[in-house]
Amino acid sequence: MILDSLLAVLAPHECLGCNTEGRLVCTTCRASLAVPDKRCYKCHEPGRSMATCAVCRPNSPLTSVQAATRYTGVGKELIHKLKFGRARSAASEIADMIADRLGLDSRMSAYRDIIIVHAPTATSRVRTRGYDQSRLVARALAVRSGIPYHPVLMRAGQNKQVGSDKAQRKTQMLSAYYPVSLRRIRGAHVLLVDDVCTTGSTLEAAASVLIRAGAARVDGIVFAKA
Ligand SMILES: [Zn+2]
Ligand SMILES: [Zn+2]
Repeated sequence: MILDSLLAVLAPHECLGCNTEGRLVCTTCRASLAVPDKRCYKCHEPGRSMATCAVCRPNSPLTSVQAATRYTGVGKELIHKLKFGRARSAASEIADMIADRLGLDSRMSAYRDIIIVHAPTATSRVRTRGYDQSRLVARALAVRSGIPYHPVLMRAGQNKQVGSDKAQRKTQMLSAYYPVSLRRIRGAHVLLVDDVCTTGSTLEAAASVLIRAGAARVDGIVFAKA
């Protein structure tokens, strides 16, 4: 992170899309980011929004998974920056775009029960990188939107996916998260933040823990959807 700030002083950013000097993603490239499909995250059935469809809803703890863009092009490169360098700048760009595209702004903070929670990254990866990228995005999004952020989910130390079958992996994922502040979770409408959603299993595992801990509703909020 110190290196990230130093780099920002020594070398200005170049746009990931067109190499223009200035921001990591310039205004033009930002506007041309791929718009995500309106589909259920679970069965990919097209719908009128990114809500979980009526068929999948009984088997999902997530009311919806909202994305700012698709996991492609400049959006994908920005995620790469978030994970492998310039993390702080990437996190704030990502939070800006999530807030813009999903309409998360100061009006939301009027709803007192809405909170932002991040889906913690596996501890082994946090150790290697020195930071948790989903936490960086969640915090930047809270600053940008005025919605309170509470780190109420923790991740257990070991998370090696040794299981071969799907059910076994799911059990391991479920046990990988645990809640730390029931008081904050109970009755809350949680915006569960992560950088990317691929199969949705990570968000589901974290959302299940929140629902069991008493959350009233959980929506997944990601930058990019595969
Ligand atoms: Zn550009
Ligand atoms: Zn569905």
